Amino acid sequence: MRALVEGVEVDGRHWIGGRRVDSPRKFAAISPIDEQPIAEIASGDVGEIDLAVNAAATAFQSWKKISREARAGYLHRIADIIESRVEQLSVVETRDNGSLLRSHRRGVMPRVAMNFRFFADWLLQLDHADFDVRGHRNHVSYDPSGVAAIITPWNAPLMLGTWRIAPALAAGCTVVYKPPEWAPLTASLLADITAEAGLPDGVFNVVQGLGREAGAALSRHPKIRRLSFTGSVPTAKTIAAAAAPNLVPLSFELGGKSPFIVFADCDLDLAVNTAIGQYDNAGQVCLAGTRILVEESIRDRFLEAFLAKAKAIKQGDPRDETSDIGPQISRPHFERVKGFVERAVGAGLKPALGGGPNETLGGLYFKPTLFVDPPETSEILREEVFGPVLCLQSFTTEAQAIEMANDTEYGLAAVVMTGDPARAERVTAAVNAGLVWNNCFFVRDLRQAFGGNGKSGIGREGGTWSFDFYCDVKNSVFAPTGWRK
Ligand code: NAD
Repeated sequence: MRALVEGVEVDGRHWIGGRRVDSPRKFAAISPIDEQPIAEIASGDVGEIDLAVNAAATAFQSWKKISREARAGYLHRIADIIESRVEQLSVVETRDNGSLLRSHRRGVMPRVAMNFRFFADWLLQLDHADFDVRGHRNHVSYDPSGVAAIITPWNAPLMLGTWRIAPALAAGCTVVYKPPEWAPLTASLLADITAEAGLPDGVFNVVQGLGREAGAALSRHPKIRRLSFTGSVPTAKTIAAAAAPNLVPLSFELGGKSPFIVFADCDLDLAVNTAIGQYDNAGQVCLAGTRILVEESIRDRFLEAFLAKAKAIKQGDPRDETSDIGPQISRPHFERVKGFVERAVGAGLKPALGGGPNETLGGLYFKPTLFVDPPETSEILREEVFGPVLCLQSFTTEAQAIEMANDTEYGLAAVVMTGDPARAERVTAAVNAGLVWNNCFFVRDLRQAFGGNGKSGIGREGGTWSFDFYCDVKNSVFAPTGWRK
């Protein structure tokens, strides 16, 4: 089950207890670039998940006891190896999930290494607070909680996976990772890297497989003590129900239908360029501001400039340095995106841009699409498409912009474009979102809290929030002179 993918050897088997484990069931990893199979992957079931969780539970007994410095050392070694393999990881990820090769090389893979470095360093300065209560010493400690189950999607597979794996390992948890079946390859390369870094057997485990089988078995396993899930709302509901009997703490990073609010006092060029960026990764970005709300007085100018720029977006093979966006991840996802657009058109909406597959490129390439003034109740305006499909509406007052921005069950992100700092403060305070960007987009740092409100998620990750999640926080009280009778 070894395949050569863009010249890099990838092992399709699981990684359990420090060794490769085969499965009688397999599935094919299909590249979105040309819909060709590129590797055969083990398809985990209940038994293989059980093996991995037990390996992780056994390894936890010693991993939780090693010093913070030693744990941080392993994480830095993993980061060193990732940095030395940016090229290999990038070419494999691009072949597997169709995201731009240049983004992987320059931004995503360096960030993957940073995920490990950051949480290693944060671990060393994590404060175990002491405070005095009427002469009694109170001590707050962060104790490793046990086996962490991590389940992530395909749109940025290694980045999203390691963003959870790194803090879990830093916190002293051991990990069972279920990568996305539509982009499973870099998880296997990460297993090789952890082995090369000398991570003890069983501390990090990968069980490949389908969500409804491997993912479901992991979610309901009684020995997991934390479950971090990134993905869609329907899957989150299934996972929450599966984990409920075990009362496992959950961290959910889910979808969005975020507002992108453009006020007349903004820098129009900046607003248009930033709005065009919402098509990045062919629209497969949870944070994308897919509802563009423009102040009526500049609507025509904004729309004209937006359409001109959008028509210049170069769609093509993601390995080509000059491509701006690539294909959709898979045939079922492509059909899902197409279905949204067809239903919108069927309901009488006429796309101002795009509106269907890119016939020149064929395959899974879907044209950047824009609907103007969709009705408030329309599916295209309310549901997350997760493809290159944006909606544009207009407003006349700040109050109306806020009301429209908040008219959603999601609450992941918001973008505000304005030249008025006081307005930026007011609107930021009023929008219902876990992240708000003013006159910018995607400015992120691992110290920040990351997460969404409403249907966009439960909990926050990043910095201290990650340790709060992966640790059992203990408060201990010590009397000044021993026990009192
Ligand atoms: P998905 O929910 O279908 O799958 C995500 C993961 O869950 C995959 O690994 C899948 O195998 C697994 N899974 C599926 N069914 C399962 C089950 N019954 N039990 C356990 N695991 C199961 O989502 P997707 O289509 O892969 O990803 C797209 C979604 O992810 C979008 O909604 C997007 O907004 C969201 N997302 C959110 C963030 C964030 O940080 N908020 C980041 C990226 C993507």
